[in-house]
Amino acid sequence: MHYYSLNHQSPNVSFREAVIAGLAPDKGLYFPSEICTIPQEIIKHPDQFSDADIAFKVIRPYVGNDIPDDVLHRIVEETTNFPVPLVPVNEQMWSLELFHGPTLAFKDTGARFMSRCLGYFAREQSEKVTVLAATSGDTGGAVADGFYDVEGINVVILYPSGKVSAVQEKQLTTHGKNIYALEVQGSFDDCQYMVKQAFADAELTRKMFLTSANSINVARWLPQQFYYLLAWKQWPLKDQPPVIAVPSGNFGNICAGLMAHVSGMPVAHFIAACNANDVVPEYMHTGQYAAKTAVSTLSNAMDIGNPSNFIRILEIFQNKFEALKEKITAYSISDAETVQAMQNAYRNDHYLCDPHGAVGYLALQRYLLEHPAQKGYFIETAHPVKFIETVEQALEFRPELPGPVAEIMKKEKHSVVTEASYDALRAFLMGMR
Ligand SMILES: *Cc1c(COP(=O)(O)O)cnc(C)c1O
Repeated sequence: MHYYSLNHQSPNVSFREAVIAGLAPDKGLYFPSEICTIPQEIIKHPDQFSDADIAFKVIRPYVGNDIPDDVLHRIVEETTNFPVPLVPVNEQMWSLELFHGPTLAFKDTGARFMSRCLGYFAREQSEKVTVLAATSGDTGGAVADGFYDVEGINVVILYPSGKVSAVQEKQLTTHGKNIYALEVQGSFDDCQYMVKQAFADAELTRKMFLTSANSINVARWLPQQFYYLLAWKQWPLKDQPPVIAVPSGNFGNICAGLMAHVSGMPVAHFIAACNANDVVPEYMHTGQYAAKTAVSTLSNAMDIGNPSNFIRILEIFQNKFEALKEKITAYSISDAETVQAMQNAYRNDHYLCDPHGAVGYLALQRYLLEHPAQKGYFIETAHPVKFIETVEQALEFRPELPGPVAEIMKKEKHSVVTEASYDALRAFLMGMR
């Protein structure tokens, strides 16, 4: 197994090299040389395996010899040590709740796996490793939690000022120690652009060991297959594979689901559930991919105008538009519809959705209306209290904060306010050394 750059202008690398580098030198995303078949017994009898064993079998071939079996098993145990329940919502729909991890968002799975892999690799490294991450909301908290106090690693998180929720902001600005939060006066796309500039800065990367923790990193992207398999383990209708609706922003999550599927996991159809940022729904309509400027919505973790993982989806389908269209339907859901979906889910199904989950809920509902014989699940990507203001406005009551969140809300925020320019980021990084 090796990894190649999707820009095809860089040498092939091992898993270890791909994890440490994040992005290839030609700025392409890494992609595995083989898509591995999931062992038949896992598909046929998933209930005979522990969650960690399933995860281990899925990821083992992608890691190659870079991490020994016993260490890798420990890593996947720590990655799967919180529940991912598949909860019935109504007769046709389930919710895969991925918010039971330490920061109450699905990104915990990828962030935990990656931080532990990088922590293992950093031990062989004489220099400190600096992890750079742009976040539209949830990445920051998950990365901060995953890397907090990991020896040999500093973390610098860039987030758009005023565009993340109060809980999210606390989750990325209250750790201290090796975690630094830059509050950027701009959009998420600005943050992502600044990070990309840093990686392209030859002088900077000569002086410091930089890596990325965004969903482009293979160690964040690939382990996201785990919970799709764990959902399959719980899926009650093994002879009728599910339709899966994934609230999508950078398209890392749905891309992992597609990997699990092309590796052998049965799925009837995928729904890319987008908010007003409709680059992919437009693409599915026209066949032309045109990046846009991101617009702010209630589901802010999906406010992305140029989804970086989409190119991996094209690679999975070998750039065959028709094949892609057969497997994926994309919907764009407005803020007004999102609020209505939260209300409908609560009133009709007694299910409390966060705004991202609500986009998934409505997209799945739309698809199932046209395909009434099918059943499926949507992914609930964040706990509703992470977006408590929106939930309160939509439903006219305030859900209670779980204990750990109530604690973090009491902590003091520490951020460095930064203008949205690469020079400002560069100056900060140079000052850290
Ligand atoms: C990051 C995030 C998304 C989008 O996931 P992608 O993998 O970027 O498509 C959706 N919902 C929540 C709550 C998120 O944090």
